[in-house]
Amino acid sequence: MTDGIEINDRDVVTLDSIAPGVRGLRILLVNVYAVSTANGWVLIDAGLPMSHGRIRRWAESHFGSRKPSAIVLTHGHFDHVGAFPQILDAWDVPVFAHQLELPYLRGEKKYPAPDMTAGGGVMSLLAPFYPRGPINLGDRVQPLPLNGIVPEFEDWKWIHTPGHTEGHVSFFRDSDRTLLVGDAFCTTKQESLTAIATQKPELHGPPAYYTSDWDAAKASVEILANLQPLCVAPGHGLAMSGADVAPALDDLAKNFDELARPKKTRRAA
Ligand SMILES: [Zn+2]
Ligand SMILES: [Zn+2]
Repeated sequence: MTDGIEINDRDVVTLDSIAPGVRGLRILLVNVYAVSTANGWVLIDAGLPMSHGRIRRWAESHFGSRKPSAIVLTHGHFDHVGAFPQILDAWDVPVFAHQLELPYLRGEKKYPAPDMTAGGGVMSLLAPFYPRGPINLGDRVQPLPLNGIVPEFEDWKWIHTPGHTEGHVSFFRDSDRTLLVGDAFCTTKQESLTAIATQKPELHGPPAYYTSDWDAAKASVEILANLQPLCVAPGHGLAMSGADVAPALDDLAKNFDELARPKKTRRAA
């Protein structure tokens, strides 16, 4: 039930200067990003339900009345698509997501129920924002182009990073090795309220209660580690940049079973 839920000012934090042309907005526990491009800007993800007004006001403070050229989704979980459909009333722009994510965005398929035994502390915090049912964007959401490049977002490549969801993608800019990872991994431990309150950046696996395929999630972190990023900006947690990022991500990839995979789903050796 999302009616009547209001987001408090203290739960909205701007995350500026993440990388050239990349700025973020954290609403409660969830980040969205605005990326400047040659001809304008692109919005990455769409936050929790009821956050459309916040996202719009933030965007207006940076871009005036200029709407984004596109909204690009890392995946379709409710905490990344919450500004829909209202945000499209103001911004009639194309929405892109991976082909495998489209059924979840067109009301045809529901994500598996969260695995509360994999750590559910935060789930209760987000409970007021649970949607009533799957979102249906119909034809307004289109598949990401197969050549890896989103129109009007040419400096970036999308990379299929499944595991957290089937059609999860990350975005990489080769020129300065900036990586937007969605929920492929986090820089805060999503299951722990304390870690979120302090937001001390350190690398963790994807949000455990919502990750459906741990083997794929591990392979995706390996793919992202091989990019040797200098800056990572996640869906949950603070962005991190500097020479320490790539070794930290290598470490997460190499020790994924130990650091990220919930114990009860670890395969017997
Ligand atoms: Zn997610
Ligand atoms: Zn998320």
